[in-house]
Amino acid sequence: MAEPSPSEELASQVNGVYYLTGIRWKNNEPSLRVQIDGAPSTVLVEARGLNLRFRTDVEKPGRCLGRIERSVEGSSYVECLSPSTRGRRCERCQVIENVSAANMHQAHRKGRDSIDQRMAEYLSHPHRLYVAIFRDGSTKVGTTRGSDGGQRLVEQGAWFARYVAHVDDGFLVRELEDVVSKSINLGQAVDTRKKFSGHLRAQRNNELETTLDDLSAEVGKVLTAQERDGWASLDETWTNPALNDERWMDVVAYPAALTHGAHEFTIHSMVGRLAACDRPGFGETFLFDTQPLLGRPLEPGDFELDKLILQESLF
Ligand SMILES: [Zn+2]
Repeated sequence: MAEPSPSEELASQVNGVYYLTGIRWKNNEPSLRVQIDGAPSTVLVEARGLNLRFRTDVEKPGRCLGRIERSVEGSSYVECLSPSTRGRRCERCQVIENVSAANMHQAHRKGRDSIDQRMAEYLSHPHRLYVAIFRDGSTKVGTTRGSDGGQRLVEQGAWFARYVAHVDDGFLVRELEDVVSKSINLGQAVDTRKKFSGHLRAQRNNELETTLDDLSAEVGKVLTAQERDGWASLDETWTNPALNDERWMDVVAYPAALTHGAHEFTIHSMVGRLAACDRPGFGETFLFDTQPLLGRPLEPGDFELDKLILQESLF
């Protein structure tokens, strides 16, 4: 018998309200975390090929998105079945997330003895420093745990990146990241709106690559000038797996808000948290941000779908 598709698998489990609570990347493939009302735990459903038809006007509270715990083994997702009360999370998960974020970002300034022990163990592990470029041309410097880079770049939806240094631990890598940021005024985050508009009006790949080459050389000089021990130079290029996917060459912004009304789409693929999808009756590949859907109660069913009005782009 053929394997059931992700949509069939999900449909067989859902018979009431469900919630998408996050995206999990593994081997460059995204899965959605799905919580089904009344079910005891989260299920992972492959995003590629997933068909969803739902209504979002459900009078139920949202669901907490859970949290990430970090320890010597790395980071792991902890699900939570509570309603969301503070934004997208319950009070408890939000507090834990805030403390964790503060610990992580201040670790190298405070020193390893003044932060949470589990976080200190998490950071006492080799890291990599990278520079990344997005399709609109925005650039950033960042860090990732582990010797192979892991899923950090694909999670963020970078288009090209270069690993520039292998660093002994997570404390030093953040010091170097700060030095790079200050020296050449390079940010550590890129706004999702820029990532989104980059897919609609992308710079040419060869231009992005040239910018990244120049930037990597500049960062290399900054690092070398530090005369610090504990790191080694790397020159390893990374490209997004969607780079040669024709569907990403011609995407259109999904012309309706996903936060209300009834929708149906089939996910073709994802770049970071942005999904390229098909909608029945349309030939376009639509692009939408999955974030607004997360934690929101979704009711499956054959509702009349919201009409989509396509407008000619003004640009
Ligand atoms: Zn929670």
